[in-house]
Amino acid sequence: MPGYSGNVGWDPGGWTALTRVDMWPGIATPLLMTRIGGSCFLFGGVLVVLMTSLAPSSFTNTSVQCGNAAVAGVVGLAVLLWGERLRLWQFHLMVLTATLQITVSVYESANPSVAVSFATLYVFIACAAFFVAWPAAALQLGASLVCCTTAMAMTSTVPWWSGLVASGTTVAIGIVIAILGRLVFNAELDDVTGLLNRRGFDRVLGVAVRRARTGGLAPAVVFVCIDGYGAIHDQFGGRVADEVMQEIVAAWRNVLEPEHVLARRGADEFTVLLPNGTDQQAVSLTHRLRDAVSMGCSAGVTTWQPGESVSVVVARADTALRRAKRSGRNRTMVESANLPPVAVELSDALAAEALDVRYQPVVALSDGDLVGIEALLRWSPPSRPDLSPYEVIRVAEENNLIAALDHYVLRRACLDAQRIRGDAPHSSMWLSVNVSGLELVQKGYANQVFDTLAETGWPAQRLVLEVTESVIDVDRPSALEALTALRRGGVQVAIDDFGTGYSSLSRLQALPTDFLKLDASFVAVVTPTSCEPPPLLRAVAALADALHLTVIAEGVETPQQASVLRRLGVEFAQGFYFGKAQRPAELLDVMAPAPSWRPNLLR
Ligand code: C2E
Ligand code: CA
Ligand code: CA
Repeated sequence: MPGYSGNVGWDPGGWTALTRVDMWPGIATPLLMTRIGGSCFLFGGVLVVLMTSLAPSSFTNTSVQCGNAAVAGVVGLAVLLWGERLRLWQFHLMVLTATLQITVSVYESANPSVAVSFATLYVFIACAAFFVAWPAAALQLGASLVCCTTAMAMTSTVPWWSGLVASGTTVAIGIVIAILGRLVFNAELDDVTGLLNRRGFDRVLGVAVRRARTGGLAPAVVFVCIDGYGAIHDQFGGRVADEVMQEIVAAWRNVLEPEHVLARRGADEFTVLLPNGTDQQAVSLTHRLRDAVSMGCSAGVTTWQPGESVSVVVARADTALRRAKRSGRNRTMVESANLPPVAVELSDALAAEALDVRYQPVVALSDGDLVGIEALLRWSPPSRPDLSPYEVIRVAEENNLIAALDHYVLRRACLDAQRIRGDAPHSSMWLSVNVSGLELVQKGYANQVFDTLAETGWPAQRLVLEVTESVIDVDRPSALEALTALRRGGVQVAIDDFGTGYSSLSRLQALPTDFLKLDASFVAVVTPTSCEPPPLLRAVAALADALHLTVIAEGVETPQQASVLRRLGVEFAQGFYFGKAQRPAELLDVMAPAPSWRPNLLR
């Protein structure tokens, strides 16, 4: 049965430690080892000093005993103060040193009672059996047995067999300690899966948190609930439910990394500790765990933050899991320590797919035909119904939710656009989707877009991704690379809010772009009384023309504005005059053969 030894004290190994589960007392931690090992050394040193000063005449060489005591005292203190990072081989060395030191003290005793008294110090060696695998414990106890009987035999003052009592006691106590250690550890294991149980997991997490506090790696925690467990248990009974749990654990073995620690926290609940993980890594792990089994899994994810205790981290992961269950199960929720309430709402809404996307028509100024639609996000959180899309994007960007949000909008928009096109089969409209600069620089962004296109069936040639000028920073070549890769795959790119940034003309020429979206502020200066196009608008239109870029004017609200733009040679436009962002069904009116604005445009 697979199981985890829980011995993250010695090494971070999770699954790698499986084979040692029967050999290793998993509850041994570096802290415990440090305290017990250091104290034994210190105490032994003090006892030797005490005996040497009480009966100096009982030793053939007092300075050897004092030296021994000094070494034991220094090692003991050092281990107590700094020993938590002690490696396993260093611990073995410590035990061997102690064995040799005791042997020297016994050998140097000129008096039989002192020799026997010193031999009782071997009992300290028995304590080591708690911390090491049983083969190592057997070697250590064997070494102490040999050293003790040899030293006693070589001491002329006592008969050879007197060492048997002291060494025999040491071995017996060592065996009892090893057995008790393993029995106590069994209380931390789940009978069905052989994994750590809730108590064991909390202890292992405690070790990871202690490490993180002293400058080590920051752990992430995942809580996973098997959604259908209750139904299986009720319908088929406990045995079948147990077998299902065992199969799930076996399937997850292939998904987990060697350093991950899997535990069973409750009947239907598992936990995974990532000794060094971010929210994102933990989230993608939950996706992989979900994909590996046929049953639905709800998951909650969190990461340790500086200063936090185990209970805080556990409570937060638990909250995330409960949110995942509440919002429809079979999904992952992240509960980040610093996430403001509105970001939590946004994260929940994303998981529940409760965000709306509306579509604003883009028309050809020459004839008023609909040529494209721009997907615009709409979301009103219950606590802040007045939150504008700009603010929603900011919240998403600040709380690491923007990638999920943009991916959601892209996927949803592609699906909606397919449906809209299905209702108007001859339409060759394009779909524009906004992309945040933060998302664009993410590794693999272009591939993700292609995956979404493949999944939804929307053609790449009919997708326009809108990015703002400021995002395409030459100092961040990854954005340029992503845009270039997207265009190579047929996707078109538009520079959004053109004219509000600080593009130099030479840079503009080098940008991988197909459209310029003229910011609404240029259009707004065209008033009903304007006869001539404002000079700035005229200049920007000429510039776009010189660069062979197609212009889409934004924020067209009046027929005058539309007409001025058309006379300037601007090809496309969008704005309240043609239609606000609307539901897919409402767009069909705009797609009618004779839209209301056509006569005005053709004037
Ligand atoms: P944007 O891409 O420049 O979108 C155009 C904005 O102008 C939209 O505001 C639209 O409703 C508004 N608008 C359109 N026509 C007119 C008009 O004639 N007059 C006026 N006054 N306004 C008009 P909205 O929907 O509030 O979106 C604001 C911004 O939020 C967008 O600006 C875009 O930058 C961002 N955004 C919206 N949805 C998404 C999204 O899914 N992902 C990302 N990354 N950003 C988005
Ligand atoms: Ca836009
Ligand atoms: Ca814009």
